[in-house]
Amino acid sequence: MGLSEITRRVAEAEARAGRPAGDVALIAVSKVQPAERVEAVLRAGHRLFGENYVQEAEAKWPAWRAEYSGVAVHMIGPLQTNKAKLAVELFEAIHTLDRPSLAQKLARLAQARGRSPDLFIQVNTGAEPQKAGVLSADLDAFVAEARGMDLPVVGLMCIPPEGIDPAPHFSMLAEMAARNGLTGLSMGMSADFETAIAHGATHVRVGSAIFGARDYGHR
Ligand SMILES: *Cc1c(COP(=O)(O)O)cnc(C)c1O
Repeated sequence: MGLSEITRRVAEAEARAGRPAGDVALIAVSKVQPAERVEAVLRAGHRLFGENYVQEAEAKWPAWRAEYSGVAVHMIGPLQTNKAKLAVELFEAIHTLDRPSLAQKLARLAQARGRSPDLFIQVNTGAEPQKAGVLSADLDAFVAEARGMDLPVVGLMCIPPEGIDPAPHFSMLAEMAARNGLTGLSMGMSADFETAIAHGATHVRVGSAIFGARDYGHR
């Protein structure tokens, strides 16, 4: 299992960046992973997980939450508006708020329930047409709009384009967060979480480096 090695590398990256130990939340991305791999990580004491699909999370996590105390699960995949009601019941945080219609839906749910998961706004820093996220140029207005709906926006999230240096995207996201008075930075995956920590990530989303490769064929 890669959990202990990744935990150590997160701690080393924190130290190199002059940040206190434990400053970075390690989200173990368990989407599509076989149950025994997730259970090994739970037994090792890890409690923070990430999922991409509402229905998959609904099938898996209620039983593990009953068995292990202190579990938190964050939604890191694209969220359809018609799954928002289920999502706010399943997740402690949603990292993929990316459009006004979803913000409106989450605001209505927050009012009805009297609480809301923490929200990160996803930014499409590479302006990739196939990727979700608010365009950088529209971010400040969207933050203001979401705040105007009383939504608990805690930070920004990005997935840099593949195959290029992610560092400029991480520093761009950090700059946008600072400009908007947001402290949360959800950035960095298996291949680049140390670079993300150097640029101020508060939440890194690491899947395959902890659990091993995902096998989508078995879904
Ligand atoms: C799957 C996924 C991850 C984890 O990716 P790895 O490369 O396996 O670490 C992180 N963030 C998001 C948004 C993902 O969809």
